[in-house]
Amino acid sequence: MADSKKIENVIIVGGGPAGYTAALYTARANLEPLVFEGFQWGGQLQNTTEVENYPGYPEGIMGPEMMSQFRAQAERFGTRFVTDDVDRVELSDGGVQKVFLGDEEHLAKTVILAMGAEPKRLGVPGEMELGGRGVSTCGVCDGAFFKDQKVIVIGGGDSAMEDSIFISKFASDLKIVTRRPQFRASKIMLDRAREKDNIEFKAPLVPLEFVAGDSGKLEKVRFRHAETGEEEEIATDGAFIAIGHIPKSEIVQDQVATDEDGYIVVEPGSTRTNLGGVFAVGDVVDHTYRQAITAAGTGCMGALDAERYLRDSDVPVEAHWLPGGEPAEIATGT
Ligand code: NAP
Repeated sequence: MADSKKIENVIIVGGGPAGYTAALYTARANLEPLVFEGFQWGGQLQNTTEVENYPGYPEGIMGPEMMSQFRAQAERFGTRFVTDDVDRVELSDGGVQKVFLGDEEHLAKTVILAMGAEPKRLGVPGEMELGGRGVSTCGVCDGAFFKDQKVIVIGGGDSAMEDSIFISKFASDLKIVTRRPQFRASKIMLDRAREKDNIEFKAPLVPLEFVAGDSGKLEKVRFRHAETGEEEEIATDGAFIAIGHIPKSEIVQDQVATDEDGYIVVEPGSTRTNLGGVFAVGDVVDHTYRQAITAAGTGCMGALDAERYLRDSDVPVEAHWLPGGEPAEIATGT
């Protein structure tokens, strides 16, 4: 267990590809990172089956296994892990950063925020139960598993169009189903989807239930027509829910700059937030790409930015004293 009196060089909040990569790099820089990886460590990949698009795994790898390997690699260089969810933080601009587990306070000179994002859910029966058995929230991850099969994509925004365009390369026929007659997607994305021969648009249908067949896999989706109220069933092999993402930034809201959707804002081309010593990486920043490889890439950037910050800036002397006035052990290694 971590020593709560110590002022750490780096605390990393989040245990997905971004957090573990930041841990690996800061550990190899002898910064002895402390990672609050969350109770359900591993991030979104913990809920993923086969990952075939992460370079270095030519045969593919299961998502949880990949996260175990990321974690083990960071641990090999001295990373310490706390497998629990952070309750709150008190961030400062250039001073001591505070991270709390209940009343237990952890201090650090820098914090790397890597809490990730989660796909929005419909909240209808069968959605969670059939995850990995026909229902998915990631077209790029799972589209290729539906070669020559029937697929439904639910949503009317750019994510739904983008997923559909990608999955249409594999699926025999694909239906984009939205709950309103109007699409939120940009014209260019809509036009690109309309150009595909195997994509059909269906609206306005509100999803009611994902239904399994005898095999235990998804067999059909039930919808209600938004205007007539009539119910309709569409038989399908796969259903992709593409109704947006929610960044997991609640614990830093009103402390660090976020945009209107709650994503943490960083200086372009860096992981620096508006607060000195506070960095943000991975999907909690990323509106667009949301891939394990891009999250890992920004995790690396966050580690290098934190290392540079520690090297170049003078953390105030008070930073090395506990609130009660006792001297604190200062983590070394810079
Ligand atoms: P979005 O624009 O908010 O669209 C979400 C879609 O899901 C809407 O059609 C919405 O319907 C529907 N929806 C939401 N909750 C639903 C529910 N409970 N049941 C049924 N349908 C539901 O989200 P997004 O598509 O993820 O895009 C988010 C942002 O990222 C946008 O600014 C977008 O331009 C950007 N983005 C860009 C690209 C690109 O340019 N390549 C790719 C992806 C995302 P309603 O319209 O009825 O609310």
